[in-house]
Amino acid sequence: MQFLPLTNKMGYEFAIFNALIQFAIWGTFFSLNKFVQLSFFYKFSVFLIVFTIPILISLLGELIFGFCHFTFGLNYYILFVLPANILGFSVYEVINSIKIKLKAILFYFIFLLIISGIIVEIYFYPQIYFYNLIIGYFPGTIYDELIEIDLKLVLSRIIPLILGIIFIFIKRINCKNIIKLYFLLILLIGYFFIKPHIGLSTNKFVLIENLSNKNETKHFIVHFDSSIENDNVKRLSLLHEYYFYRISKILNFKPNKKIESFIYKDDIQKGKLFGSRAADVTKPWLYQIHLDVNSTERNLLHEIIHVFSAELGNGPLKLAGDYNPAIIEGFAMAIEELIEPKRNLDELAYLGLKHYNLSTRKLFNGFNFFTQNSSIGYILSGSFIKFLQKHYGNKELFKYYKTADLRNSYKLEPEKLFSKYFTYINNQNFKFNSYKAIYYFGYSPLINKKCARYIAYNINEINKLFKEKKYEKAAKESKLLYNESGNYAAYYGYLLSLIKLNKFLDAKNSLNNFISVTKNSNTYFTLKFIDTKLNIALSKKCPEFDTLLSYNLSESFNFEVYRLNEFFTKESDKINDYIFNETNFDVNRIKSDTLKFLFLDPKTLNAKYIIDKAESYILINKFYKQFNYERLSEEYFINGDYEYSKNLLKRSIDLNIDKVKQCLYFSKLQKINWFIENGNNKDKN
Ligand SMILES: [Zn+2]
Repeated sequence: MQFLPLTNKMGYEFAIFNALIQFAIWGTFFSLNKFVQLSFFYKFSVFLIVFTIPILISLLGELIFGFCHFTFGLNYYILFVLPANILGFSVYEVINSIKIKLKAILFYFIFLLIISGIIVEIYFYPQIYFYNLIIGYFPGTIYDELIEIDLKLVLSRIIPLILGIIFIFIKRINCKNIIKLYFLLILLIGYFFIKPHIGLSTNKFVLIENLSNKNETKHFIVHFDSSIENDNVKRLSLLHEYYFYRISKILNFKPNKKIESFIYKDDIQKGKLFGSRAADVTKPWLYQIHLDVNSTERNLLHEIIHVFSAELGNGPLKLAGDYNPAIIEGFAMAIEELIEPKRNLDELAYLGLKHYNLSTRKLFNGFNFFTQNSSIGYILSGSFIKFLQKHYGNKELFKYYKTADLRNSYKLEPEKLFSKYFTYINNQNFKFNSYKAIYYFGYSPLINKKCARYIAYNINEINKLFKEKKYEKAAKESKLLYNESGNYAAYYGYLLSLIKLNKFLDAKNSLNNFISVTKNSNTYFTLKFIDTKLNIALSKKCPEFDTLLSYNLSESFNFEVYRLNEFFTKESDKINDYIFNETNFDVNRIKSDTLKFLFLDPKTLNAKYIIDKAESYILINKFYKQFNYERLSEEYFINGDYEYSKNLLKRSIDLNIDKVKQCLYFSKLQKINWFIENGNNKDKN
């Protein structure tokens, strides 16, 4: 369903849609008596016509309306549709050569057999990607915009071609009808069982073989990639148990099975074995969670909550009533916030509602969740479910989760509930800040994006050029892509290439012309920050410092701005080096202790000494000092030094500036204390 808006132009979705149709169309020919009697050659011409017409129609559309790159989309079309069509044709030929009745029904039985492989793999196997003889390939979620045509994808499409040729060969052999049919079915079913061994599907055996480091705790079996270090294995396993303990306290129940957790070494490995490179995903019905180790810290709590909700869910997938995505995600977001209030859900929901004039009620209708950009969908549904939990308790919420029926669960008219929620949000006296609303929500959902696949492919190519330090070529390619598509990410690539080439003045001039275009998108603020850096590099001035802070986008954005300004005023001789080699800049080159303190991480030489020294005479704004302690506390926690992490967090709490933050600090303190009690605290450094 999410595909449909994209199926009218040449590209990936168009190819999937046509592959399905062009296989299925062969079944309809059995009812045309004249067609059945045609020679092989004539039927083959029909095959060519069916294959070519969509290309011509789409080309015509392209010429009139100008969509995406036609030839780019054509690659998917040929790769997906050609084998599907030939396979359909060959299955038709085999069945046609057998003397039985109900040929069409047999054809569609085989069609369903091939398609149902997808359901079996997604339901019973750990994977969410799939390769299919007819449809081709799906990477797991709609958030994976990049569909690379790699060797594996090409090989997976050669298989239906080969099968098609074999089937046509079978048709020509003189043997009993039933043997022909058996042979066809054996090949199709046999292929399904060979798939895990050639990397085209992932059963649990293959997955555990790849993620070979198993660690079993009280409530989890965690499978880690073997490259993940032992300290991290231990700490992340503890983190699983800590979150389990907190969730079960709030929800007052436990899943009735051990949860299996799979931790991949990076997004590439996750994409290959599980699917969904971009997002971490849970399979509640299998009690499984799948995470990239680099995002485990951020997403683990959320994913475990999804497994808990399996106990509340319905049907074979154990999901919310009507598979309502707003309820599923809202529930996880809400419980997550009750445990770790990392962001102020209600404030962000308020900003989104007001700036974009959204309706919470609409979001909870059917599958509307996917038509919003994902961040507003998650925030708003989370804030609403949290409101329900806080005002009416768990019992009603569980009922709502199961039935998706607000009226019945709360014995109130839905309008009444939504308007109560609206009042609740408006009565919290949040300050309206349209910059902040744009910063968090100012981008478009995939289905409204123009040529998302084409752009994702090219951005990926440009990133490769960046890695190879071919900046000239990257500048050229990204400018071309921007001119063609108007895509901001393409422009961003162009700007970064100019900076890498030390063409600061060119970058500045280009940015001056461009920046106002992005006013209503979150790219605007990234570009504003780069503009400030360019001003520093070119004129040794930082006039935008106050403007950037006045947007008041987020604590971490403000902190970055503040840090840059401190650097600029204290050690301006090194600032260009820092600005343009940020990732490789060595903090130990800085002389000022205050600056060192602001840029420090636990791996810096004498880190604790620098922190203590800075503490005694540091003269920085209390707000940033507090944030810096909080930031460092988190990093020491991740490093496994819980005592010191607690020490830093306490310093942050002592500064006691923002009342809203006390709640977050309390939850962090609770977590660290639990770790000190339950884990071995290692004193590092
Ligand atoms: Zn989720």
